[in-house]
Amino acid sequence: MRSHKNTVQTEGDDFSLSYHCPYCQQVLLSRAPYKNEVWESSICCHHCEMIIYSIFYHNRVDAFRLTAN
Ligand SMILES: [Zn+2]
Repeated sequence: MRSHKNTVQTEGDDFSLSYHCPYCQQVLLSRAPYKNEVWESSICCHHCEMIIYSIFYHNRVDAFRLTAN
């Protein structure tokens, strides 16, 4: 039997952070890092397709615009 590891879970802690895109203000969801981890990455908003520089903490996300506008 194949495992279903790639199935997106809608319950549990897999997607436990929600935050707002700094461009379009739509809600984005993300997995949360473990308590002592911080993730930095530039992600593409799937609503407006702008690049967001994001710092993910265990319980929050800081999201920044990369452009002045
Ligand atoms: Zn957006």
